[in-house]
Amino acid sequence: MGQIVRVSCEGCGKSEELHIGGGMMDCDFDSIISGMSDQQKDNLREAMHLGAKDFSINRHPCQCQSCGSFYTGSKVSFFLDGEKKAVWSRCPSCTSFKRRLLNKEGTTPCSECGEKVNVQMLGFWD
Ligand SMILES: [Zn+2]
Ligand SMILES: [Zn+2]
Repeated sequence: MGQIVRVSCEGCGKSEELHIGGGMMDCDFDSIISGMSDQQKDNLREAMHLGAKDFSINRHPCQCQSCGSFYTGSKVSFFLDGEKKAVWSRCPSCTSFKRRLLNKEGTTPCSECGEKVNVQMLGFWD
């Protein structure tokens, strides 16, 4: 079951509602890769053809280090040749890969203003 959280910065007042964790639909490969860029989808499909298995997805509250926006970072994990691999989604606003994970204790400083970013539980999805 996934969680709905509100991520808000005490300094600049920026706030976003994010869906994190995993949901029921996540067993389906197409839904797992739906948040990925075309390039990443190709890479994941190729990995699957090479015998990758145990695909799973998890979503984390992230702050983009390029444009400062809050977004849900999707992390797709899988095993290939006995090794655990992971592919991360990009910032939906500016497509940067530079991100910082926001921890749920709300102690991660905002990359824009340096103040605390609070992560507040709102409920569940799925
Ligand atoms: Zn801020
Ligand atoms: Zn960005």
